[in-house]
Amino acid sequence: MSKGTKVPGYMQGKGSRNPRGIIGDREIRYKCSLQNTILDVLRGRPGWQEVPGQNNIPQNVQANPKQQGQQSTGQQPSNTGKSGSGSTNQGTTFGNKGSVRNPQQGPGTQPGVPTRLGFQSIPPITRNSDGDWDFYWCDREWLAQNYDTMFLYEHQKILHFRNHYELTRKNLMVKNLKRLKKQTERELGKAEGQSFEFFPTTYELPSEYHIFVEEFKKNPGIIWIMKPAARAQGRGIFLFRRLKDITDWKKGEYQPLSDPNREVPETYVVQRYIENPYLIGGRKFDVRVYVLVVSYNPLKVWLYRSGFARFSNTRFSLDSIEDTYVHLTNVAIQKNAPDYDPDKGCKWSTQQLRKYLCAKHGVEAVKNAFKGIDNIIIKSLQSVQKIIINDKHCFEMYGYDVLFDSDLKPWLIEINASPSLTASGKEDYDLKFGLLNDVLNVLDLENRLTGKEKRIGGWDLLWEDGPILADDGNMECTPNGTTASIPNSFLGCHNDRKRQLRELFTAAQSIKKS
Ligand code: ADP
Repeated sequence: MSKGTKVPGYMQGKGSRNPRGIIGDREIRYKCSLQNTILDVLRGRPGWQEVPGQNNIPQNVQANPKQQGQQSTGQQPSNTGKSGSGSTNQGTTFGNKGSVRNPQQGPGTQPGVPTRLGFQSIPPITRNSDGDWDFYWCDREWLAQNYDTMFLYEHQKILHFRNHYELTRKNLMVKNLKRLKKQTERELGKAEGQSFEFFPTTYELPSEYHIFVEEFKKNPGIIWIMKPAARAQGRGIFLFRRLKDITDWKKGEYQPLSDPNREVPETYVVQRYIENPYLIGGRKFDVRVYVLVVSYNPLKVWLYRSGFARFSNTRFSLDSIEDTYVHLTNVAIQKNAPDYDPDKGCKWSTQQLRKYLCAKHGVEAVKNAFKGIDNIIIKSLQSVQKIIINDKHCFEMYGYDVLFDSDLKPWLIEINASPSLTASGKEDYDLKFGLLNDVLNVLDLENRLTGKEKRIGGWDLLWEDGPILADDGNMECTPNGTTASIPNSFLGCHNDRKRQLRELFTAAQSIKKS
């Protein structure tokens, strides 16, 4: 190896592989499939270097020849034992540099792979995670296409869990929630099952059409909302009161005979419409809440303090159920409203919202309402905990959509695995820039933290195999003082992330030194 060639941290002896599998003291190589705030964050992060590649955004920076050199330092992946496309990584490798694609495994274990005197044989079928990256903010399609035939090194981190759709497809989310609710009722009693009463009655169509019709007849006059299970941004959604409305729809738009590509009818959910949303200024809104899951087993969940409420542009009324500008709060819908003002937008920060609600209903009532959101987050994640393929390389930043009703009860509307990272204005950009930088701070590929933190920037650790309680210093929203039994949950509270990070890094450094 020539002098000056950089050796990847995990090839170096000292500090190269710490217990959390994080890179040591070299630049961090990233890939990114999106061209929005996340790319700005990655490009602006000191010590991070973009890896050119097929699925990357074109950039001005040319491939760093040093980096190319690093790819031939002899590091070889361990194998997956699965079949895949052709590979440059065939043959034998030293030691245990990588990790296996069996996601349930812990580091270093290689079942099914003969190991002899520190050598491992690599079947000819493994595919390299092209480009020798450490961190990949990939899109869901890329992951779906590549995950099963790809290995990842010990230290690599990638966005999305393989089967994230278990939570983010509308029909599957409800199916999983219903199952955990039933199990809870069976094991802990009906009362405990009530803690799941946060998602509106929902049926999958066409499979549960008959059960839906029975339920429909039991509740004459109420409003239902029909949503395609796998679409987003309000597309294909409509409200109805009469069964006839969906029989017409079934005959028409639902199964267009003219569409030769559609062999089976698209899956929809039909859901009880929340007819009494909490209104501010006569307008309906929902709240976007950011949640970061870094592990499903044990379940480790962070909740971001900041987010926003998205308002509809038109005053709420049940008279015009066909008017999407009244009933759907998606920005994608609202920005097409005739009287939409792009300068004013239709958002409030979660801080603004919490302040408003506190002034109106008092701190305790709001605390209770927000506690309901914590419950939604944890129960929904638990409902898929045993189903999600838990891979220690994967993480997920979810965007939860929550709607308050007029009693301040929060309802779960849906969960997104790719919440929009495109900013709609300066304030939105600042929020997303800080949020994403703090995701990277939590993942801590730089290995600057101790791993014991309860707060990192705007993220508060909500759950780690059980609820997390707040420290005394973390009481911005508890004017009456400092009891230790307060959950470590601060949605809509003051987010002084920069100051907090400064203090955190200094403290972590001195702990590590000592
Ligand atoms: P999409 O994935 O297309 O955005 P959502 O399920 O998030 O679909 O619904 C879009 C919008 O419709 C929500 O932001 C909310 O304003 C409204 N909405 C959805 N479901 C309900 C419901 N059950 N009750 C009241 N409003 C709803």
